[in-house]
Amino acid sequence: MLRDCSILIRDGKIEQVEKTLEVRADREIDGSGKIVLPGLINTHTHLSMVLLRGYADDMVLQDWLAKKVWPVEMRLTPEGCYQGALLGSAEMIMSGTTTFIDMYFHEEEVARAVKESGLRAFLSYGIIDLFDEAKAKAEQAKTRKLFDYIRGLGIPRVQFAVGPHAPYTCSADTLVWAKEFAEQNHVIDHIHIAETRKEQADCQKQHGARVVEYLANVGALSNRMLAAHCVWLTKGEVSTLAKAGVAVAHCPVSNMKLASGGVAPLPEMFDAGMAVGLGTDGAASNNSLDMFDTMKTCALLHKAHRWDPTILNAQRTLDLATIGGARALRIHNDVGSIEVGKKADLIMLDTRLPNLNPIHGPETVVSDIVYSASSVNVDTTIVDGEVLMTNRRLSSINLEETVENATRTALDMVSG
Ligand SMILES: [Zn+2]
Repeated sequence: MLRDCSILIRDGKIEQVEKTLEVRADREIDGSGKIVLPGLINTHTHLSMVLLRGYADDMVLQDWLAKKVWPVEMRLTPEGCYQGALLGSAEMIMSGTTTFIDMYFHEEEVARAVKESGLRAFLSYGIIDLFDEAKAKAEQAKTRKLFDYIRGLGIPRVQFAVGPHAPYTCSADTLVWAKEFAEQNHVIDHIHIAETRKEQADCQKQHGARVVEYLANVGALSNRMLAAHCVWLTKGEVSTLAKAGVAVAHCPVSNMKLASGGVAPLPEMFDAGMAVGLGTDGAASNNSLDMFDTMKTCALLHKAHRWDPTILNAQRTLDLATIGGARALRIHNDVGSIEVGKKADLIMLDTRLPNLNPIHGPETVVSDIVYSASSVNVDTTIVDGEVLMTNRRLSSINLEETVENATRTALDMVSG
């Protein structure tokens, strides 16, 4: 940690981090009373699901999906997806997230929102073939179309990811196709794995193997895979995933809210050397996209679960939301820390609010960030050197209009 420093940004990159800068910049942002952090990285979400925020809470996962989420999603239009994605983008910028990876439908419209908002994103279309060969072909075609579309945008901060939804909604052929597509095109293979105990039990019944064993058997694992949840894993499965180079998106708030039971074995994942990031999951199962909330919950969950307050300290938790997420997305050479040569994805926290006082000294700052700070402290958000928010005023999104449009869309959608 550095104190009383200045950061020079040029051409979207961090050019200098010095006590005193020799040059003057075209635009200067006063950092007194502020903490500068690398922008937070959300390694698993379904952005447009902000439209379903608070719509159906306190339900069992399968009922929640089948009775509430899926029927409403049938009515989701491309324009609705865009409105939701813009609302989600505003929420992320205002809570300090600068990079996220998404999985949903109408991702071209999510790309439109991301393009406007200025965020860094990986966008995947959620492939669900339900073990039907014709549907699998159609889903692959939609994936290719999104890949071409995003490549055609030519915006480096908007990237494509392939998104087979889960081993229980995709055939082995599709899972292997996704893996090969990811390898051929050097993109992330974004999937949900082992979210619930039921998933493990069903896999055992259907395939005679646990989920990770099954994925290894069919040849779907690779070092391009980013697996969300990974709650119900044995030590052996952690080891298999680690050996294959799979990264994990840990979503503690969603897992707790949906009562997935069990707790993702984070210490074992660390011991196995896995890349682990934090995710909020969709706002329908969180209910926010706030990574400060997710960081604190993550640390508390593991402490409570292992009866050990030292199991996940503040620094390690902050790392999960920054450099850990960057590793999980394989962009740690570009973002995730404040280093000369990296992209200028930075946030500033205002320490003058009550919840961040007193700060007892440099040694407590990281604890203050993880346990006391919240999104209200995020004062400035910068991506690629572009200032997306300063003094809590958004520059790329019209907040009032966005809230109004998204709310109208959401209410229309649920009323059918
Ligand atoms: Zn998810």
